[in-house]
Amino acid sequence: MRNVKYARCVRCGKRYEAVPDLTNCSCGGILDIVYDYDYIRSVLTKEKLARRDNYTMWRYRELLPVEETTPDTPLRVGWSPLYEEPRLAELLGIRRMWIKDDGQNPTASLKDRASAMAVAKAMEAGAKTIACSSTGNAASSLAGNAAAAGLKTYIFVPDRAPKGKVAQLMIFGANVISVKGNYEETFRMSAEAIEKYGWYNRNAAINPYLSEGKKTVALEIAEQLHWKMPDYLAISVGDGCTIAGAWKGLKDLYAIGFIDRLPRLISAQSTGCYPINRAIQQGTDWEPMEENTIADSISVGVPRNADKALQAIRESNGLAVCVTDEEILAAARLLGRTCGVFGEPAGVTGTAALKKACREGLIEKDATVVSVVTGNGLKDVANAIQAAGEPLHIEPVLDLMVEGFAARGVTVE
Ligand SMILES: *Cc1c(COP(=O)(O)O)cnc(C)c1O
Ligand SMILES: [Zn+2]
Repeated sequence: MRNVKYARCVRCGKRYEAVPDLTNCSCGGILDIVYDYDYIRSVLTKEKLARRDNYTMWRYRELLPVEETTPDTPLRVGWSPLYEEPRLAELLGIRRMWIKDDGQNPTASLKDRASAMAVAKAMEAGAKTIACSSTGNAASSLAGNAAAAGLKTYIFVPDRAPKGKVAQLMIFGANVISVKGNYEETFRMSAEAIEKYGWYNRNAAINPYLSEGKKTVALEIAEQLHWKMPDYLAISVGDGCTIAGAWKGLKDLYAIGFIDRLPRLISAQSTGCYPINRAIQQGTDWEPMEENTIADSISVGVPRNADKALQAIRESNGLAVCVTDEEILAAARLLGRTCGVFGEPAGVTGTAALKKACREGLIEKDATVVSVVTGNGLKDVANAIQAAGEPLHIEPVLDLMVEGFAARGVTVE
């Protein structure tokens, strides 16, 4: 890889050659991919990018850690829409805001960006089988992207994973292990199996290439905004790979001179599980926490990428905002009704946190903000109904319809 120098441990600084099956440092720290920005600047310009008709995450190949000969992965991952939302901005009391709807990826979450990268690197490594543990979306995205590339998968999920996500796994033909335990126990079991059978490892924060895939969300936001960065970028946080990846993408663009300022990150977690935000608020290192939120994708008590996430949030002078499950459900309703965007609970947590930050005056009135919706609401229909309620359920008689709506305060006209 001409554009990559090496991988470096974020904890001890030890360097490694960037081989396809890199995992953690011998000290246990997470590796970070280090690029040759002089080289990248010499081969990539904004004009060159603008002429490109590849509207997938592979549009940004010069900034991605793959060999030039590695083919694009088959599914259309990335280039999700960035909608400007003037009515939502007005409701929140900020100047401008945009929703990046990453639920529109092929398996309906931002995780497709990491899984497509995992598939590309597994092919470089010559692997035939990939494995991961996940609260749901890493799994379903891996299953889909691997199926499209003709690779086998073994997937470990905690048994609380919502049905929609498990259905995806089964349809994509994964070998699925539903573990009677929490995410931590699921993770440990997958690590044991991967070690034993030598499968390619798609576990976030073990595999340093995954956040490089996730960073493409930030590259797209920047390009979609014509390289004029917002003041804030709101993202929900579980393991921390997404927010760390987004920050990496922004810093890449800054390093090659494509953007001239960096937004502040808003790290969104649930009050039911917020080890990363607690560390930010207290200015300490993180400690494990209970996992107690309906936002299953960010219900991560032992975050695997805390080092990179904390560094990213602190470097950006970011905000750590926690929201209750009720605030998450309210944000799902708000996004659905104001923007026509349907997010799963973890998918709308960034917007819930933004709303809270606005209400509490943590954000200036003239601020501009991008909020990433990280997963589609159809993955978790039970919580959507919880957020939005049931339809009018009546005999086929018009008068009953009128009465029924009247009881809900709606005049049929
Ligand atoms: C995984 C996930 C997140 C959080 O990403 P991390 O890398 O675990 O911090 C947020 N939202 C959704 C929908 C996810 O699937
Ligand atoms: Zn190390």
